[in-house]
Amino acid sequence: MTAQNEADQNQSLPPNYTPLELEKEIRAFWIQNQIREKLEALQNSPKIKGNLGYVEGPPTLNGIPHIGHARGRIIKDIRYRWKTMEGYYMPFWAGWDCQGLPVELEVEKLLGVRNKRESIEKYGMERFIEECKKAIMRYHAMWLEADSRLGIAINQDKAYWTYKDSYIEREWQILKRAWEQNLLEEGHYVVAYCPGCQTSLSSAEVGYEGSYKEVEDPSLYFKFKVTGTKNEYFLVWTTMPFTVITDTMLAVQPNAEYVKVKVGEETWIMVRERVQPVMAELEITNYKITDSMTGKSLEGSAYDYPLKDIIPKQAEIETKHPLVHHVVGEDFVDVNTATGVVHLSPGNGEDDFWAANRKGVPIFAPYDDEVKFTNDAGTFTGIFARDADMIVVEELRNRNAFVKVKKVRHEYPTCWRSHHKLVWLARKEYFLRTDKINKKVLEAAEKVEYYYEEPKNRFLGFLKEGKPWCISRERIWGTPLPMWTCEKCGNKHLVGSKKELLDNAQEPIPDDFELHKPWVDRVTLKCEKCGGTMRREDFVLDTWHNSGASPHARFTDEEQTKYVPTTFLTEGIDQTRGWANSLLLEWVIYTGKAEAPYKAFLFQGLTQDAKGRKMSKSLGNVVQTNELLVKNSADLCRFYMTRKCSPVDFMSFDMQELTRRSYQVLSTLYHLSRFFIQNATFDEFKPSKYSIDWALGTNKLQPADIWMLSVLQNRIEDYTTKLEHCEFNAALAVLDDFVIETLSRLYVPMIRKELWTDDPETFERRQTIYALLHHALKTITLLFNPITPFLSEALYQKIYRQLEPDLPETVNLATWPTPNTKARNKKIEEQFEALLKVVSISFAARQQGKLKRRWPLAKVIVVAPDNTLQALKNLDALLIEQTNVKSAEYATAVPDYVGGENWVSSQEDDITVFISGQRDDKLLGEGIMRDLARRVQALRKEMGFVPTETLESAHIAELDAESTGLLEPYLEEMAGLVRARKVYLHANRSEVEANWNESELDGKKILINIH
Ligand SMILES: [Zn+2]
Ligand SMILES: [Zn+2]
Repeated sequence: MTAQNEADQNQSLPPNYTPLELEKEIRAFWIQNQIREKLEALQNSPKIKGNLGYVEGPPTLNGIPHIGHARGRIIKDIRYRWKTMEGYYMPFWAGWDCQGLPVELEVEKLLGVRNKRESIEKYGMERFIEECKKAIMRYHAMWLEADSRLGIAINQDKAYWTYKDSYIEREWQILKRAWEQNLLEEGHYVVAYCPGCQTSLSSAEVGYEGSYKEVEDPSLYFKFKVTGTKNEYFLVWTTMPFTVITDTMLAVQPNAEYVKVKVGEETWIMVRERVQPVMAELEITNYKITDSMTGKSLEGSAYDYPLKDIIPKQAEIETKHPLVHHVVGEDFVDVNTATGVVHLSPGNGEDDFWAANRKGVPIFAPYDDEVKFTNDAGTFTGIFARDADMIVVEELRNRNAFVKVKKVRHEYPTCWRSHHKLVWLARKEYFLRTDKINKKVLEAAEKVEYYYEEPKNRFLGFLKEGKPWCISRERIWGTPLPMWTCEKCGNKHLVGSKKELLDNAQEPIPDDFELHKPWVDRVTLKCEKCGGTMRREDFVLDTWHNSGASPHARFTDEEQTKYVPTTFLTEGIDQTRGWANSLLLEWVIYTGKAEAPYKAFLFQGLTQDAKGRKMSKSLGNVVQTNELLVKNSADLCRFYMTRKCSPVDFMSFDMQELTRRSYQVLSTLYHLSRFFIQNATFDEFKPSKYSIDWALGTNKLQPADIWMLSVLQNRIEDYTTKLEHCEFNAALAVLDDFVIETLSRLYVPMIRKELWTDDPETFERRQTIYALLHHALKTITLLFNPITPFLSEALYQKIYRQLEPDLPETVNLATWPTPNTKARNKKIEEQFEALLKVVSISFAARQQGKLKRRWPLAKVIVVAPDNTLQALKNLDALLIEQTNVKSAEYATAVPDYVGGENWVSSQEDDITVFISGQRDDKLLGEGIMRDLARRVQALRKEMGFVPTETLESAHIAELDAESTGLLEPYLEEMAGLVRARKVYLHANRSEVEANWNESELDGKKILINIH
């Protein structure tokens, strides 16, 4: 571009706001100047106000970082940068969740094996562990990249890794506390078990969002013959026919009315309420109720279990307890579904299990690790539980125990990872008896600040369930359960540290020893009771136990005292059942107190696609952070995601919206800053000399100056308060509005013209304006830093540190702005409120008369109550300028001469505004001049002229004759407006040799040249 000015090229802020390039430069600046290290050094600085605790909610290194993760990381970073500027130190250190099922499944996929057994057989445990470590490192690299691109100032060097021995040891210490308080127990319990992942799941995992899926199951009606009768049967229903294999009892509701129903030659027993619907479903029309009885009276009745011949173990169990294959009364029996007669399989159901447990009935659970039946299941040996369904149906049919089978689609819990249908199984597991400390846990949770009601209720509601926590997992890559059991006497020993383990090991420890399977399994201890050999229980821990241990495990004792309880944590709403829960439970166990390891917890809403659908691999709508940020600005993304909605709302992430408002606001801030520095440099402005205090002290501030300053102080306070309340979207709206409305649309146009001169007489006035702009823009730049750290750092380095080289090295070390009470002026703010209202009403009036805003008109009349008029009169000059008229009149009632076609008007509340619509030649000429001046200004900007630069001349060609005549008296004024020495008009373009730029005026083509 030929007109590119030399001075302009020397500007360190390029003419256009190009965030991607700027961000690259700032990223390099941070690394080169070791800014992260300098922020960390605050830890030992005597200048900090205090420590704020923090512990990172560790992302699992088994997936690619996506935009949902980015949302949470942005919020964490906002808080870190803001609190650092407020003068606090926060251990904003990374953390990675490294172990557990998700990683194992990933490695199984990579190795091309189907399950745990196959991976051990084919590759061996050492190799498998090696692959797990490699897998997490691959993802780690992607996470580092995403954090760097997003500008997350987290300290990666101080990251914790849940698989490291040092971490595992400290996690063991929490278990030791549980063991000492009798909160860690081994027992047979019914747990949800995933046949695909070959491990049990915690009840929290079963409740995960999206784990209930519509599946197809058999809907089976069958019947068990009442012992000793010829043809009386209990009618029963199930969607899991395989559980008939482990059937031990029937249950009825003691208080309900049961009946005998005659169907053909047979009599069926069921609850009365369900006779009609069940018969309808079975398509039986010919039936008759013959007898009625209470559920209670059925208790103790025996029935003939029909599969004894093919499951000999069932015949054996019958001899072990008098209630086996008998009817019992249970309050949990629901008489509103099925037949009201429920068959109980204590080996496969939670209620069933507890019913058997209370009565001392043996638990029959003949399953192996793959949920295949063992030898105890007779002919079903080796068959996977759910594959037995139809075989059971056939066997029942062969024994006249079958009534009807159909298919039913229903909601059924599936594994949140592998989506296999879960099976409930009685297994030997280890439990944290968190049910015993539920009161303390709830008390601790009640004291926490959650900011929003809905997630709070959800979290407390979940905690109230207070179920024991099954922490044992039958997997490989995890923190080993440090429990050693004596082979001879059953004595148990919980190991609390690596040292304790190594000191007591019976055999030499190899060099490559680590606290993982298989190494840790090879260590045996000597029983202190009987001298026998103790072996480790073959379990690893639930991965949620790993991350839940972080407030203890990630710190040293000294750090823990300083940083826990943490002041603020935030994670997705799904973590009510996840990390927020495990953190709380483990901390209460560890401390023994009714105290949470966090004082505040913000649960964020989840992020969906633009259409409000969940992001998923199968839909192909997952937005990956790194891919997104190769082409898109991190600042715009951070701005967009903060501004779009409240942090607790579900966010529909829309690529179309990403750069709209965010670019408008940030580029406006950029250009205002550039406008300021260009003018200020021209006048050699020095903030040390012309400070804001100096400006306030001069008593020469104009109403607009006082107003802008006052609004700014208000916004500082409002913004900071909203950040404190986690209303990030509303907070950002405050800044957004100040930049666009207060500064760009109102204040700067009011003062712009005053800067267009180098008259020595107005020198001080210009310095005053620079002092105000410097104060306002710098303040805004600092306030923006938590949201848009790249742009803030760029403006800080290229403007504010240039003007004041003594400022701290990075914007992150600058002091957080606080409102200056001396600059507050409520009265002026109220006056401006009235003014802006009148201006807005006047625009509405103009719109009615089709009078463009930039057309100067003769007069405005404001009719309003007296106090409003008083406020407006103080701002008379501004009112005239803003409404673009030549004079203003104020009245409490409509003047007599107003009305008719020469006036337009509009009204809002108690204010009516009249504008005279007539335009004489003078007004017409001035209107044309203003229109043309705007076009020349735009061209100046486009061609890269700095605002302070004076043009040699401006040429307008091919304007129609009438307009030319009207315009001529205003040429001198126009030259002033566009900063040109002279403006020339030409009837035809051929009059001068020039590079003409096409433009238009009121729909007609014109030509402009400037140089
Ligand atoms: Zn699974
Ligand atoms: Zn022993």
